[in-house]
Amino acid sequence: PKLSINSLFFLFSIYKYFVPLPPIYKSANQQINTMSLKQEIQKRRTFGIISHPDAGKTTLTEKLLLFGGAIQEAGAVKSNKIKKGATSDFMEIERQRGISVATSVLAFNYKEHKINILDTPGHKDFAEDTFRTLTAVDSVIVVIDVAKGVEEQTGKLVEVCRMRNIPMIVFINKLDREGKDAFDLLDEVEQKLGLKVTPLSFPIGIGYDFKGIYNIWEKNINLFSGDSRKNIEETIAFNDINSPELERIISERSAANLRSDLELVYEVYPKFDREAYLNGEQQPVFFGSALNNFGVRELLDCFVEIAPSPRPKASEERIVNPDEPSFTGFVFKIHANMDPNHRDRLAFVKIVSGTFERNKPYLHTRLGKKLKFSSPNAFFAEKKEVVDISYAGDIVGLHDTGNFKIGDTLTEGEMLHFKGIPSFSPEHFRYINNADPLKSKQLEKGIDQLMDEGVAQLFKLDFNGRKVIGTVGALQYEVIQYRLEHEYGAKCSYENFPIYKACWVEAPENPKDPEYLDFLRVKQKFLARDKQNQLVFLADSAFSIEMVKQKYPNLKLHFTSEY
Ligand code: GDP
Repeated sequence: PKLSINSLFFLFSIYKYFVPLPPIYKSANQQINTMSLKQEIQKRRTFGIISHPDAGKTTLTEKLLLFGGAIQEAGAVKSNKIKKGATSDFMEIERQRGISVATSVLAFNYKEHKINILDTPGHKDFAEDTFRTLTAVDSVIVVIDVAKGVEEQTGKLVEVCRMRNIPMIVFINKLDREGKDAFDLLDEVEQKLGLKVTPLSFPIGIGYDFKGIYNIWEKNINLFSGDSRKNIEETIAFNDINSPELERIISERSAANLRSDLELVYEVYPKFDREAYLNGEQQPVFFGSALNNFGVRELLDCFVEIAPSPRPKASEERIVNPDEPSFTGFVFKIHANMDPNHRDRLAFVKIVSGTFERNKPYLHTRLGKKLKFSSPNAFFAEKKEVVDISYAGDIVGLHDTGNFKIGDTLTEGEMLHFKGIPSFSPEHFRYINNADPLKSKQLEKGIDQLMDEGVAQLFKLDFNGRKVIGTVGALQYEVIQYRLEHEYGAKCSYENFPIYKACWVEAPENPKDPEYLDFLRVKQKFLARDKQNQLVFLADSAFSIEMVKQKYPNLKLHFTSEY
């Protein structure tokens, strides 16, 4: 039979539905997917701002959010909001205390980039919280007050970043005030913080004489207009610092000073080297005034260009790369019920690789069980909202009814355990007692949950079962007491327990090792179990640790829980 031309057309038109796509199309599609995953990850900048309290971290955060259009006006946040309340803090108690207890996430878009700021409490009593948050950032900005220089808390936090080779940018703030000489300050930063700096901007005058900033990175001059030192700025491209134009723009004296300052900068400090910055071997420095919004855009523009997108992370099993298609992530923070009507908690998960999708089952590797999340929260500025998909580098907040502990890993099925959220020895130790015998169950539950959140560490004495709470700062005892009462309806009291440090004891290969058994017998009253049931020696003095080391030379003592 002859085929009509019409039927040929017809056959041709349906042909494509029966023939599978040539393989080239398929792989092109897949390529597009991995491409877009890669692009999404490349866009992301997840970082933390660290500083000593009052250096201006909150003010800087607010100004960054303004640039991202995430908030509308400075006043809105400045009237106590980030500082004493809503934006970065969730709980009543935090509002009351006016301390940024919480570590929350503020995200915004800027120039094709998705920026996630992980807020870190500056108060020293919450240092452990900050240490944990630093496991979830890909870089940090260190804020230093020009008048106060390097302060205690800055030192501790920078040390943690240095140990982990986290890329750091330094922002020297409050240039509108009288402060230290810029070179002295750079010296101080190098010496006290052990950094290798290179200025990417330099102040033109300081305090009363502060006229503006020479931007070494962009080669331009930013000037305050008039004497107000408020907001209004003029940016003048300025490639050649020796041009006579400079005298016209700033005064003759300032021009001469700037030229000699820059000469010294170029002579003394190495050129900016991005590799070195990314490896944590060099730290660029910017100067400015967060309050007056001066030097902040320059910082942000450079930051999005040079700061790393999400970095690979080590698990016990292997290194995980962010652009692997399968989702992996870990819990770095747990926040108790922000809504008093709901008894749930929010577990903050940093996505290490792939995408996190709503309603997809994920493996909780510690419990070995699959969990689904119907309303994962993503963060945008001061709001959180339910999202369908988030990418490596992002933080998702998962509602949790008690499955999570800090450090837990989630995957699509692979047995992985991310490393690096150790507990350190607390500084303070107190017995905790039940002050309302009718509420012992509530007390038990409250203590349990607060410890999972990482508010403090619980030790149970081996010989009498008494509970000891260890904290970094004395303030935590009040926080715990307050929260036990207001969230769990339980009352507690404390009793002093003069302990110097907790040391984790590594069990010997031979559990019958005579030296080990002797230690266990002699120190019986000072032995306890932590929440993971690891053996801990609560030493009452530095001297007794020394004595133990001398008497039991083969015994292995550790000052962190991960060894
Ligand atoms: P944080 O504790 O590090 O978050 O510090 P804040 O951002 O709350 O700032 C502490 C105080 O310093 C506040 O009173 C701010 O208004 C003030 N401050 C912040 N940045 C500047 C600045 O650039 N210049 C001046 N003069 N004050 C500033």
